[in-house]
Amino acid sequence: MTKPQGIAVLGATGSVGCNTLDVIARHPGRYRVVALSAHRQMDKLFEQACHFQPDYLAVADEDAAAGLRERLALASVRCEVLHGPSALEWIAALPEVEVVMAAIVGAAGLPSALAAANAGKRILLANKESLVVAGRLFMDAVRASGASLLPVDSEHSAIFQSLPADYVGQPDSAGIRKIILTASGGPFRGKSAAELLGVTPADACRHPNWSMGRKISVDSASLMNKGLEVIEAHWLFGVPPERIEVVVHPQSVIHSMVQYRDGSVMAQLGSPDMRTPIACALAWPERIEAGVEPLDFFSLSDLSFEKPDLQNFPCLRLAFDALAMGGDAPAVLNAANEVAVEAFLNGRLPFVDIPRVVAETLSGVGVAASASLQALLARDREARRFAEGRVGAC
Ligand code: NAD
Ligand code: MG
Repeated sequence: MTKPQGIAVLGATGSVGCNTLDVIARHPGRYRVVALSAHRQMDKLFEQACHFQPDYLAVADEDAAAGLRERLALASVRCEVLHGPSALEWIAALPEVEVVMAAIVGAAGLPSALAAANAGKRILLANKESLVVAGRLFMDAVRASGASLLPVDSEHSAIFQSLPADYVGQPDSAGIRKIILTASGGPFRGKSAAELLGVTPADACRHPNWSMGRKISVDSASLMNKGLEVIEAHWLFGVPPERIEVVVHPQSVIHSMVQYRDGSVMAQLGSPDMRTPIACALAWPERIEAGVEPLDFFSLSDLSFEKPDLQNFPCLRLAFDALAMGGDAPAVLNAANEVAVEAFLNGRLPFVDIPRVVAETLSGVGVAASASLQALLARDREARRFAEGRVGAC
């Protein structure tokens, strides 16, 4: 039997993190969980630690770490508990960690994902914000260290699977005309501007097809998620924005497509279950059991396609605008969106004002070149301060 692969799951208690551990648990002996991280939800992390017996846990602060240490000692689980952002970066670069699942939400996931890239790991990238904030820096780090980067976002996994196996980021030489990103349209698809006025966080988090964390659920409702995914696809696949098209496909059966010069369209289909792209990234190029219901073609309703509604859901257009502005504009867009989404979830900002805060921050903060991680994080903080001011001005 081959040696188990050492894996660190960053953001283990989240929706992607839990799905990852679900797939790992189906393959005893194939992976060894070296480390898990979580920000809150200490009960869940404790349960995961008891089950997977990792060597390390990383949590937000010293208090959380102390509480966890006590519980682990009582349960006779031997594992070192670290805390703070630097612990995440340290874990991501450990020599015994071969695979890093980057499943922290938001720009908070960037430093550890980048540490994994610099350390030449096999990175399973769920944290799309890493590429939105630091696309060039991240892709350069992957190339320089020889890391492998496997997308976990279902659309990007679909595109990855629909590209030639030897694809190296040159669409023209691979005969690619377009990347087609599908979007479910989210829970508010078809709603008018007036109907969007009173929507609540609970409404926004009620996604028709996917069960996800709260931040990405709101992003899906505003179409910012698709905007972030356009930027993610641009960096992952080296495709210019004008050759990335978004198509609303409410059934979420086709997870995305690649259109070739000769008229062929390659698509990946499946049930809307994140364990498919997670298993694909974990085992690629092998295919492993993921616990996912096979697609039943006879019970599928029609597959339909629509243009996105950019009038009522301007966040998608704002993401294309940020990409066109270049420099660190996508990092500014992301920071403003994180602030606006948090304010919406806390009842401080109406849903329809999310794009307003993002647009005002983009024009208020402007664009800079910001090439290093430190410079990008400084701009992230600047954009957050500006966006907070715009939320307050509501
Ligand atoms: P989630 O909110 O369910 O979980 C987030 C995880 O990150 C948790 O473990 C949390 O403890 C940790 N975390 C939160 N803030 C942190 C911080 N400041 N520092 C360190 N850790 C922190 O989120 P999710 O839905 O699992 O999404 C995770 C990432 O994957 C996001 O970038 C999201 O866009 C992407 N993604 C998610 C899905 C999905 O189905 N949920 C699909 C595609 C992509
Ligand atoms: Mg997605």
